[in-house]
Amino acid sequence: MAEIGSGKKTSLPPGLYVVATPIGNLADISERALDVLAGVDRIACEDTRVTAKLLTAKLIKKPLLAYHEHNGAVQRPKILDMIKSGERVALVSDAGTPLISDPGFKLVAEAQDEDLYVTAIPGPCAAITALSLAGLPTDRFLFMGFPPNKSGARQSWFTAEAKTHASLVFYESTRRLPECLADAAEVLGNRAVAVCRELTKKFEEVRRGSLPRVAAQYSQEGAPKGECVVVIGPPERKEETGGGSDMDTDALLKAALNHMSVKSASAFVAEVTGEKKKALYARALELSGK
Ligand code: SAM
Repeated sequence: MAEIGSGKKTSLPPGLYVVATPIGNLADISERALDVLAGVDRIACEDTRVTAKLLTAKLIKKPLLAYHEHNGAVQRPKILDMIKSGERVALVSDAGTPLISDPGFKLVAEAQDEDLYVTAIPGPCAAITALSLAGLPTDRFLFMGFPPNKSGARQSWFTAEAKTHASLVFYESTRRLPECLADAAEVLGNRAVAVCRELTKKFEEVRRGSLPRVAAQYSQEGAPKGECVVVIGPPERKEETGGGSDMDTDALLKAALNHMSVKSASAFVAEVTGEKKKALYARALELSGK
């Protein structure tokens, strides 16, 4: 197979090359990404103007092909045909890693299904960069993409993951950040948060603190400028489902149910554990088979 990434211009086999590009600092593009962009026959990109700027800065001239949410169904067969006829096609997004809250998943899937050569040239990704800086647990994290725009839907979106024992990572427009953090604080309560803004750029900022406090700060200051990623730390162990404390809660409920009514048992366990009475009542009903 052709050698890629030696720093020299190399010949590449026909296929699809998923190439990560910078999220704010042009110097973050890898040597291998530059080799590939210089070596392919054409580049499929979200916005040809954005990619043209990157290529001009790196002295690369290539035919560009728009590939985005609205024309994917039409463009996909064309791109696959190009590859079948021996072309090398790179896929880039406006910034960062394609497919991560960006187009590309269906193109990659269809190219794989057709046994075409597909490879990735990894590099910048705002979510991963935020995790590198947030100072929150990274052993388990859930990337959630973008939250819904409306408050009700957003609260349900947070509620669905309220018990997930992982750091929650999501993208949000800075314009909506204050309302979004207020909803997150209302649903998730007192957790740690890091708002990672303008990553790799001149005014990079990481604001860390408790979710209610940081939400209050932004609601007072108003929406900040630029782009941001929000990382919310996991719930405390006692809230984890399936783990120690839920089992302890069940054990407590069972013991209490031996000599108390469902109502008294759930009130008693709520007092001991600090958990919500309503949820405990529902669980006590289940455990008592009523
Ligand atoms: N595929 C990209 C990636 O790998 O990071 C993400 C694309 S998504 C459409 C764009 C969102 O990523 C922005 O709205 C923002 O939430 C986040 N983002 C991108 N660049 C960023 C940066 N330099 N600093 C903070 N957040 C950034």
